[in-house]
Amino acid sequence: MALIVQKYGGTSVGSIDRIRNVANKIEKYRAEGHQLVVVVSAMSGVTNNLVAMAHDLQKEPSPREMDVLLSTGEQTTIALLCMALENIGIPARSYTGSQVRILTDSAYTKARIVSIDDANIRTDLNNGRVVVVAGFQGVDEDGNITTLGRGGSDTTGVALAAALKADECQIYTDVDGVYTTDPRVVPEARRLDRITFEEMLELASLGAKVLQIRSVEFAGKYNVPLRVLSSFEDGPGTLIVSEVANSKMENPIISGIAFTRDETKLSIRAVPDVPGMAYRVFGPISEANIEVDVIVQNVGINRTNDITFTVQRKDTDKAARILEKVAKELGAEKVEVDNKVAKVSLVGVGMRSHAGIASKMFGALAAESINIQLITTSEIKISVVIEEKYLELAVRALHSAFGLKDPA
Ligand code: ADP
Ligand code: ASP
Ligand code: MG
Repeated sequence: MALIVQKYGGTSVGSIDRIRNVANKIEKYRAEGHQLVVVVSAMSGVTNNLVAMAHDLQKEPSPREMDVLLSTGEQTTIALLCMALENIGIPARSYTGSQVRILTDSAYTKARIVSIDDANIRTDLNNGRVVVVAGFQGVDEDGNITTLGRGGSDTTGVALAAALKADECQIYTDVDGVYTTDPRVVPEARRLDRITFEEMLELASLGAKVLQIRSVEFAGKYNVPLRVLSSFEDGPGTLIVSEVANSKMENPIISGIAFTRDETKLSIRAVPDVPGMAYRVFGPISEANIEVDVIVQNVGINRTNDITFTVQRKDTDKAARILEKVAKELGAEKVEVDNKVAKVSLVGVGMRSHAGIASKMFGALAAESINIQLITTSEIKISVVIEEKYLELAVRALHSAFGLKDPA
C-alpha cells in the first residue's frame, strides 16, 4: 500500500464528464489498496475568465481581492469531484487551502508555502477517505486567502507530497509526459522517460509550462518522486529524477527546448561610458519591482555604450516610462522598445562536458536566416532572443539540428 498524491490540471477536470473520468481513475488506484490525496485545478478556462472579469472592473485590481476571486475556481472543482466520488461509492472529503491549513506568506498572487498542517488529511486517510484539496491556494497568518501564481496547483501537489512523505506525486495533465519541447509546436517532439530536476527546473523557468517552477524546486529540495502523466491515456509518463539517480544512464547533451513569448526588449542608446551607469539604469527598474532577464552592454562610439535588456511583457509600459526618464537624466541618445521578440533556450546537463553546442545552435538558426538579437548562457542552457515571428521555425530547426526526435 502506498500513499500517492495526484494532481489533476484544468483540462483534466474541464467538464462534468472529465471529472467523472478522474473519479474513475481514483477508484482504480483505491482498488489496488493505495491511499490517495488528490489536488485539483480550476476547470479549464475558469481562472482566465475570473481574471478577465476583474480587469473589466479595474485596471489594477487589489491583489488581495484577486486572490479571493481566483481561489473560487478550485473550490468549485473540489466539491464536484467529491460528489463524483460519492456517486461511485468512494468516501471523500474536500478541503480548501485554508481548511487544510496550507500556510503561506502574504505575497498575494504569488505567495510561497511556509508550512502545511497534515492533521486533517491524516485523520481522513486513516478513516478510509480520499482527500481532495484545492490547488493553487493557501492562507496567510492573518487568515487572508492567498494564491501561488499561475499554474500553482502543481506546487500544491508536490508540497503536499513532501509534507505527507508520499511515495509518489503524480501530475496528471493533457500530455502524456514531459517532451523534448512543447508537442503542440513541434509534432515530432519526443516524450522523455526521465529528466533530471535540474533540467526540468531550467525548462520550466524558460517557458515550458508543463510544471510550475516552484513545484520542481520543491520536488528537488525534498526529494519527492515526481511523475508527469496523461489523464486521458495510460502510460509510464516522465519521471523527474536527481542527476545521481540518472548517472547510470548516458546524459543526453540536450534534453529539451523551451521558449517564451513573454518578453520585451528595451535598449537605451549612447549612454555616456562612465562608472555607475548600469546602476543608474537598473536601480530604478528594480525599485519598481520589474524583473530583468537578459542584459547585454555594447561599447559604442565616442565613449558611449548601448545597454539592452529584456523584461516580462506585462512590465513593458512601466519599464519604458522609467527608461525614458533615466535616458533624459543621463543624456542618452534614445530609448527603443520592441515587444515582438521571443526567447528560445536549449537545456541539457550534458552541455557541461561538451563544447560546440552554441556554435551548432547559431549555425542552425543562421541556416534559416534567423537573426539572433541577444545571447545568454549558463552551465546547462543557452538562450537566444529572436524576432517573435520566427519562434516556431527556430524551435523546429533546433529540434531537428540536435536530433531530438530520436532517443540519444
Ligand atoms: P494543466 O492544466 O494540466 O496544469 P498545463 O497547460 O499547465 O496543464 O501544462 C501542460 C501543457 O504544457 C501541455 O499541453 C503542453 O502544450 C505544454 N508544454 C510546454 N512545454 C512542454 C514540454 N516540454 N513537454 C510537455 N508539455 C509541454
Ligand atoms: N487555476 C490556476 C491557473 O489556471 C492554477 C492551476 O491551474 O494550476 O493558473
Ligand atoms: Mg499547469
